[in-house]
Amino acid sequence: MKIMISAGPTREAIDPVRFITNHSSGKMGYALADAAVAAGYDVILVSGPVNLTPPEGLAEFVPVISAADMASAVKSRFPDVDAFISCAAVADYRPIEIAAQKIHKQDGDMILRLERTEDILLSLGKMKQADQLLIGFAAETEDLRARALGKMERKNLDWIAANTVGVPGRGFQADTNAVTLYARSGEVYDFPLTDKRALAEQMLKTIFSKKK
Ligand code: C5P
Repeated sequence: MKIMISAGPTREAIDPVRFITNHSSGKMGYALADAAVAAGYDVILVSGPVNLTPPEGLAEFVPVISAADMASAVKSRFPDVDAFISCAAVADYRPIEIAAQKIHKQDGDMILRLERTEDILLSLGKMKQADQLLIGFAAETEDLRARALGKMERKNLDWIAANTVGVPGRGFQADTNAVTLYARSGEVYDFPLTDKRALAEQMLKTIFSKKK
C-alpha cells in the first residue's frame, strides 16, 4: 500500500527577495508521514519549505516551493498511489507577475495583484479512480463542520479532517492538535487534543482499517 502525503506551506514569490506564505509548520503532515512509515506503508512525502527533518524510511521525499511545484509533484505521482492525504496549506492566490528585480519602495500605497492557484485536491478529486482514497484537511476559524463537509463534497474526498486554527494548542505551529474526522459514509470520529504524532497514528488506523 502506497500513501502520498503533502505537508507544510507553499511560497509564492513577489520578487527575488519576497514571498507570500502562511503559518503552516508542516508538523501534522510530517507526523502523518512518520506514523505511516511506522505502520509499514510505502510513503511519499511532498513538502513545502519547513524547518523539519523528513522521517527516516520514506519511499520518496519531494521538496517543493510554490503551489504550482506542489501541483505538478503531486499530480504526476497520484496515479501510482493508493491514497493521498492533503495536509499542505497550499496558497490559494499568487502574484500575477513575479518582478525580475527587487521592488523598491515608493511614497504611498502599493497594490499587489493576485491570481488563483490551482486547487490541487479539487483536480485530484476529478482524477480519482474507484480504488483510490483522497483525504483532505479543513483548517477553519469558524463554521468548521459545515465548511469541512462542503469541501469533502466539492472536492470528491473520502475523508476530511477538520481542525480549528487560531486557538492555542491546535492547528498551525502547535505540537498538539484536535480534529474531527468525517467520512463520506457519514461516520464521524472525534479526536481530542493530543500530540500530532499520536493523533496521526489514530487517524491512519481509523481511515485504513475501513473500506470506503
Ligand atoms: O484551502 P482549503 O480550505 O480549500 O483546503 C482544503 C484542502 O484542500 C486541504 O486538504 C488542502 O491541502 C487542499 N488544497 C489544495 N490546493 C489548494 C488549496 C487547498 O490541494 N490550492
